[in-house]
Amino acid sequence: MAQLPLPGRPLEAQLSDADRLVLGDLPQPVVDLLARLDQHGHTAVLVGGCLRDLLRGVPPNDWDVATSAPPEAVAALFPGASWENRFGTVTVLEPIRIEVTTFRMEGGYRDRRRPDEVRWGSSIQEDLARRDFTMNAVAWRPVDLDARAGTLVDPFGGAEDLRAGLLRAVGRPERRFEEDALRLLRAVRFAACLDLRIDPSTEAAIQLLAPTVASVSGERVRNELLRILACRDAPSVAFVLMERLGLLPVLLGELAALRAIPQGKPLAGDALEHSLRTAAALPPSDPILRLAGLLHDLGKATTMADGHFTGHEQVGAELTAAVMRRLRFANAEIDRVVRLVREHMFGYTPEWTDAAVRRFIRRVGVAALDDLFALREADAAASGGPVSLDELRGRVAAELGSSPIEQRQLAIDGDDLQRALGLGEGPLIGRLLARLLDAVLEAPSRNEPEQLLQMASEMVAAGAATQRDPGTLSGESERRQD
Ligand code: ATP
Ligand code: MG
Repeated sequence: MAQLPLPGRPLEAQLSDADRLVLGDLPQPVVDLLARLDQHGHTAVLVGGCLRDLLRGVPPNDWDVATSAPPEAVAALFPGASWENRFGTVTVLEPIRIEVTTFRMEGGYRDRRRPDEVRWGSSIQEDLARRDFTMNAVAWRPVDLDARAGTLVDPFGGAEDLRAGLLRAVGRPERRFEEDALRLLRAVRFAACLDLRIDPSTEAAIQLLAPTVASVSGERVRNELLRILACRDAPSVAFVLMERLGLLPVLLGELAALRAIPQGKPLAGDALEHSLRTAAALPPSDPILRLAGLLHDLGKATTMADGHFTGHEQVGAELTAAVMRRLRFANAEIDRVVRLVREHMFGYTPEWTDAAVRRFIRRVGVAALDDLFALREADAAASGGPVSLDELRGRVAAELGSSPIEQRQLAIDGDDLQRALGLGEGPLIGRLLARLLDAVLEAPSRNEPEQLLQMASEMVAAGAATQRDPGTLSGESERRQD
């Protein structure tokens, strides 16, 4: 175990053989970067999560280096690197992404000269003391880079905690969570994703300060939730832990409200457990899709009546939009998830006509079909009643290969309509095209320019095109009840 450096003595002199650590898996670009900083007289150490992961024997997600060099010196050494002034972090992108941060200390990075041996010892010490958990407050200082040999700097016993499967805050837990409430959520992520127990005093502090997680910005919460959702088996564990620690009602009250909402499904458990199982049944490589699984039944908390949840997909879609807006998701991500939640109740039966299949494709949107099938299969698996969507998949593929489904596949466009019917630009053109598409979905043979123009002029004459908005469909009989 590394010891705290004593003032006046170089840290190396205090390190025992046990602190020698060879990192055989260190990628060459990381070695090169450390070497370059060293050649220019700067202390540079590998630090934080990447070292933790190497100690655990798993490949790191990202690479972090802490250095005595001020950001401008780092940026000058690595042309093309981007420099985030506020945090003193320089991000080197080529050949791999490495974040290089000047030692963090009280009051930022102090003087800009090269620290002497004692100074670097206390600098790195101070830097580590400002990190969140003991396992993340570890550093590796290269001694012989060609041999990938160095020393482990571990003043808070992070390596030992990791071995013991323990997540522990650095220093006084309450103070650390008060400094940055995001750490409350990071604790849950690490406990769930790395399968760690939370140290009792750290856990007590989380419970005490759980309400303060409300002060964390939507963006930071979103990023942390996405990282939780990207862990293989973790969503269920993480969200149950968040509930137990009091974080879930604060961050995702809409989801917490599903606790004790009965399911009436073959698999035991309430709507919250079902939601967690659905998320976990979707691939970790697509955390946004997992989010759709997590949120797909949000509407059930308020729609339960007579053993059914009529309209819960619509209510759920609205709640999902509100949650995702609060968490500052991108509009495209919100649209993707909200659409899935809204459409997840389709009730396919072999009796569906080909036109019904085409209406289904149009309502869902071609781009969302694979997601929706994946969500439905996960939903079914999480209810204990697996479905096979193979037949529907086959029929969808057949229709996509043979029939016009989208407006751009119509044999005429808006310009054709304007010219042929002497109409100006305006919403009428859009409504006409939508009605023509309705007609073509019923009978693809109608997709001929003359027929379409004929139908359009009849619609205008009858005033019918003004009656109805594009995109509304008679999909009710194609939905299931739940
Ligand atoms: P991951 O493996 O998911 O990247 P990580 O622990 O590396 O997890 P990062 O966000 O990459 O997390 O941060 C790198 C390091 O920076 C952490 O290991 C930790 O030492 C420190 N750190 C990050 N966020 C915080 C925070 N909010 N408070 C204190 N230290 C932090
Ligand atoms: Mg990291």
